[in-house]
Amino acid sequence: MQQHQIPLDANNRADDPHHDDLRDDGTHEVTPDLAYKRLAIVNVVFYGVPHAADRQWVLIDAGVMGTTGLIARAAEERFGPDSRPAAIVMTHGHFDHVGALEELAERWDAPVYAHTLELPYLNGSAAYPPPDPGVGGGLVSQLSRFFPRGPVNVGSRLQTLPDDGSMPGMPGWRWIPTPGHTPGQVSLWREADRTLISADAFITTKQESAYAAMTQAPEMHGPPMYFTQNWQDARASVERLAALEPELVVSGHGRAMHGAEMRAALHALARDFDRVAVPDQGRYVEQPAQVETGTAYVPTDKQ
Ligand SMILES: [Zn+2]
Ligand SMILES: [Zn+2]
Repeated sequence: MQQHQIPLDANNRADDPHHDDLRDDGTHEVTPDLAYKRLAIVNVVFYGVPHAADRQWVLIDAGVMGTTGLIARAAEERFGPDSRPAAIVMTHGHFDHVGALEELAERWDAPVYAHTLELPYLNGSAAYPPPDPGVGGGLVSQLSRFFPRGPVNVGSRLQTLPDDGSMPGMPGWRWIPTPGHTPGQVSLWREADRTLISADAFITTKQESAYAAMTQAPEMHGPPMYFTQNWQDARASVERLAALEPELVVSGHGRAMHGAEMRAALHALARDFDRVAVPDQGRYVEQPAQVETGTAYVPTDKQ
């Protein structure tokens, strides 16, 4: 499976390597108040202007295990040595997004926000259902059987995202439920400049392939196949995000992309989702994991 799901040209990338070199803080800045950092296979996002005061910025997602120092150092360089975030927002609880979460939440004494349906994976009560190593055709898919499925436990720091869709510490932003990849995944949206943090609802590289994940070869791609639990919901989530007509996208994996070609590719992904993003066969293609029946949550003592 070498072909792209939906091709994207490297010219559509939203970061500016020259500008990033000048800042030299190890992040890619895509708007004056939004930067992301790539940690091997996954992105974390910093919301807030450079040198933002204490509690005036937000970390979105928390990388893979062992990246606490890298994330903290990037935050220090961007915001100042004593600056702590107002919150850590989790788009979802997969292992490659929660790796440094417990340590960072403690270090910064920061509240952690997530969608209600994602809380069981973050408070120690449930694990994700097993991955589907047969889908996607890549090495990462095959290795997914060895990936940790949680749960992490941030205990009393964990809070539910506000019911009204607003974002703690991020004025002008809203969270949008984008289930399918996980039951409680959220994407973040700022209408004013049409900026979207899509999480893993769709991504901009072929995450199943170790080669593409390392080279970050751009393409418009559905959610990472091996971890996606409900493909019908996943399609509806991509349709919802395409309908927003985003100008700029920062996704959980791959480079930030922008512009009309990116938007056209996103619409193509939504339109052809069943053909290009959904595996021909797989555990969750036939039998989606569901919140209603409890199959989305695996009790931690039965893992
Ligand atoms: Zn994920
Ligand atoms: Zn991910």
